[in-house]
Amino acid sequence: MTEPDLHEVVNPATEEVITTVELAGLAETDAAVARARAAFDTWRRVAPADRARLLRAFAAAVDADREHLAALEVANAGHTIGNARWEAGNARDVIEYYAAAPERLFGRQIPVAGGIDVTFQEPIGVVGVIVPWNFPMPIAAWALAPALAAGNTVIVKPAELTPLTALRLGELALRAGIPEGVLQILPGRGPVVGQRFVTHPDVRKVVFTGSTRVGKEIMASCAAQVKPVTLELGGKSANIVFADADLAKAAATAPYAVFDNAGQDCCARSRILVEASVFEDFMALLEPAVRGVRVGDPADEKTEMGPLISAAHRARVSSYVPDGAAVAFRGSAPDGPGFWYPPTVLAPVRDDDPAFTEEIFGPVVTVVPFRDEQDALRIANATEYGLSGSIWTRDVGRALRVSRGVDAGNLSVNSHSSVRYTTPFGGFKQSGLGRELGPDALDAFTQTKNVFISTEE
Ligand code: NAD
Repeated sequence: MTEPDLHEVVNPATEEVITTVELAGLAETDAAVARARAAFDTWRRVAPADRARLLRAFAAAVDADREHLAALEVANAGHTIGNARWEAGNARDVIEYYAAAPERLFGRQIPVAGGIDVTFQEPIGVVGVIVPWNFPMPIAAWALAPALAAGNTVIVKPAELTPLTALRLGELALRAGIPEGVLQILPGRGPVVGQRFVTHPDVRKVVFTGSTRVGKEIMASCAAQVKPVTLELGGKSANIVFADADLAKAAATAPYAVFDNAGQDCCARSRILVEASVFEDFMALLEPAVRGVRVGDPADEKTEMGPLISAAHRARVSSYVPDGAAVAFRGSAPDGPGFWYPPTVLAPVRDDDPAFTEEIFGPVVTVVPFRDEQDALRIANATEYGLSGSIWTRDVGRALRVSRGVDAGNLSVNSHSSVRYTTPFGGFKQSGLGRELGPDALDAFTQTKNVFISTEE
């Protein structure tokens, strides 16, 4: 018998150990895959209306447990209670949205000579879902809900640091009547459990959300079995503010577009690009907005930003703001225990400064001026990332031109919204591959089968 691999789950706002979770090893992973493979044979045959009913029951169980799920995320990930409630509600909404899918997974009938031709959207099999620590609930739900709806079975590997809400979702699924083996939650280490999803021949699809570095390794390894993969990776998104915009609103909202979830958001607008003619005006409006961000106890209803996830991550974030860095101004953060880091604005920055080019994944934003529309697009697109972005202007034509010109998957005009469960989400360039949410996600969990039926005598 080998010793169990125990992981202490830490509250990032207090540094206290909340609980201990046993991490699965290779043998447990293989056993989970075998269960999922066996369950697939029956789950895919559950009548569409019954699969839909079970998913609606699952959504209802999540709905009834929202306060508990939110409290778990406040404690485990340091998310503000307001955000955590939204996240639990988002998990419910996503499951409910895809509960409608089993009865609407239409194929096509294609005109051909000599018979009829129909297509079927077949499930793929066992899906392995690898989740990062920054949004444990929504990211798990975005994959598991459409995958289950399409008739696949699912194993979710939460991030080592944040397993608690995923484990709870697994319990709620069972309580709602989803059969054993259809959805399993398997806490474990990335290079052990996550890697096994990639190498195990019975895992037929991998969904990975996390860093671009690990995503590339997973994509390369999946090639050995021609295993399809959905990747949601990093970002370095631009918030482009034109001189004709509602500057007060653009400045008041900019901090929340990057400091929300303490900047640990793949869609964080961590590069603010401001038309040169209004640069000083914008900075004057931005300063009080940044200083006004309420950083503190995430369980307090008034708090707007909590701690970073870990001491190691705080050290990484701090490395982008070395002594002598061009800090224009910054907000506050509590002293004492907890992995706190204040909202920080860097300006001016050179265009080769790592703070301007690399994903920091913390509450640090850079602000740079641009000359005109072409210059704004040049700067916005001078990155290998392409996840999201915002455009602030009152000129509708410009809003559309710039939206079409920015190489990113999720843009918003005069707002910072990236995610709606009814609309597709995903990255351009090295920010990802494939789309989650909305009608598009089902494509990632089905394969098209074409059947020709001869009508000749
Ligand atoms: P990470 O890549 O270190 O880890 C993500 C997950 O992968 C974890 O569950 C980890 O255990 C697992 N993992 C690590 N090594 C592995 C391996 N060799 N094989 C298989 N699995 C492995 O990322 P992180 O630090 O947890 O998350 C932060 C990153 O996630 C950021 O870059 C962020 O931008 C990205 N992210 C992207 C999106 C999106 O939708 N595009 C959403 C959230 C986070």
